[in-house]
Amino acid sequence: MNTFSLISGTVVCSTLLVACGGSDSSNTSLTEDTSTESDTVSTDVGPDISLFLSDGLAEEISTEDCTLSDGTNTTCYRITVAGVPANTDIGPFCPRYITDDETAGGIWFDGSGELYSLSGEFIENISDIYGDDWLLYDPATGEVNVTDTQTACEAAARPNVDEAYQNHCVECDIAYYNGGVSQTFLIPTTPSRLANPDSAQNNIGVTLNGVLLAGPAPVDAILSANTIAAFDDCGGHVNPADGYHYHAATGCSEVVTEVDGHANLMGYALDGYGIYGMLDAAGEESYDLDECRGHEDDTRGYHYHTASAAENMFIGCFSGAQAN
Ligand SMILES: [Zn+2]
Ligand SMILES: [Zn+2]
Repeated sequence: MNTFSLISGTVVCSTLLVACGGSDSSNTSLTEDTSTESDTVSTDVGPDISLFLSDGLAEEISTEDCTLSDGTNTTCYRITVAGVPANTDIGPFCPRYITDDETAGGIWFDGSGELYSLSGEFIENISDIYGDDWLLYDPATGEVNVTDTQTACEAAARPNVDEAYQNHCVECDIAYYNGGVSQTFLIPTTPSRLANPDSAQNNIGVTLNGVLLAGPAPVDAILSANTIAAFDDCGGHVNPADGYHYHAATGCSEVVTEVDGHANLMGYALDGYGIYGMLDAAGEESYDLDECRGHEDDTRGYHYHTASAAENMFIGCFSGAQAN
């Protein structure tokens, strides 16, 4: 039924790749304040492309004409990421022995609200969570079953997991994919608010450190093969189609500190609205988020706040139109 793990969520958008955006041109009032009320305060602040870390980009960001899903003809930024985060290393994912501590592995979440640290102990006791038919290590040696070759990772990261790789901790090395999969995103220079939000099951956006924000990981399919598709501590992992991509926000892409105590910017959704961390400087979550996890303020206009890693998602839906 479902595509197994690493592959699904992201395939759709990344192969076609045009995702994004929104449009409408109201500038925020700072520049032209004399205008009338018609162009009011607009809550539509487009991406600030100067904030992207250049090491995460494969080429300089350019601007081109584009048409959005709501018919708006506008301009979009063409953002091509290198496929490797600008500011962090990739991994580790799976621990190698059940005696390994949590520094040897990354994290795991299944959307149920728990966020697990991938220690050897977690692997050893995973049957307590998922059932007696789970055994991810060799009881004789304590060695964890890890997909540690390209063949193994690809056999496990496909819709019907090869039986040989059931009961494995799945990971793929970015080295199998030329050290990173470059992808291009078209994101409206000015967001265009939709009357009815779009679903957010496929690609969500791109981070300031150059990483794809993927839709929810297909954890039901992953778990049904008695596998876990390990994430590193930044909430990312590697698959053949998308290379390294994020399924959770753990702070690694929050490279801009907001001066007013608001949560930090981590990237942009494909509709052009900013995505910020979940919590503000005081550790509080906004109480007025809409179903898409968005709200607005005078400084940032409309923007999103990511969900927690344990929720296996970033935003609830797209409030703006994406590029066709
Ligand atoms: Zn994935
Ligand atoms: Zn906010």
